[in-house]
Amino acid sequence: MKKELCRMTRNNLREVGDLNDCLFCKIARKEIPADIVYEDDDVLAFRDIRPQAPVHVLVIPKRHIASLADLTQEDKDVMGHVTLVASRLARDLGVSEGYRVVINCGKDAGQSVFHIHMHLLGGRSLGWPPG
Ligand code: AMP
Repeated sequence: MKKELCRMTRNNLREVGDLNDCLFCKIARKEIPADIVYEDDDVLAFRDIRPQAPVHVLVIPKRHIASLADLTQEDKDVMGHVTLVASRLARDLGVSEGYRVVINCGKDAGQSVFHIHMHLLGGRSLGWPPG
């Protein structure tokens, strides 16, 4: 059994279906187009289709992880990598003076795509607290 499938079976059987249907897995596999701003073997970053700021990029691990609540020890390297990519992109996209990274976790927090993603928002002043 592939490592990925073992992990999913352990975490949540529902995710076997999710992997096939997952929008961001499809983007990672290039089955759906996206405006990609960064890619390596493990991480992909692309512009949000409904931007909430002049810079609004989503940074994802290519491997399917449903949400922050599903993270395990195995994910710490890739999530560190996601964070580093967000930091570099903020500089490369010219928003290093001030930006926000957000991970919505769960429906009540507004998570609508259940493949973990870090929003990188910048290029305008951002209010606090968020709505
Ligand atoms: P969240 O609500 O935190 O789960 O964020 C999901 C984000 O994905 C939203 O900001 C959407 O606008 C964005 N989104 C949905 N579909 C696409 C797509 N095909 N390409 C790029 N961004 C998308």
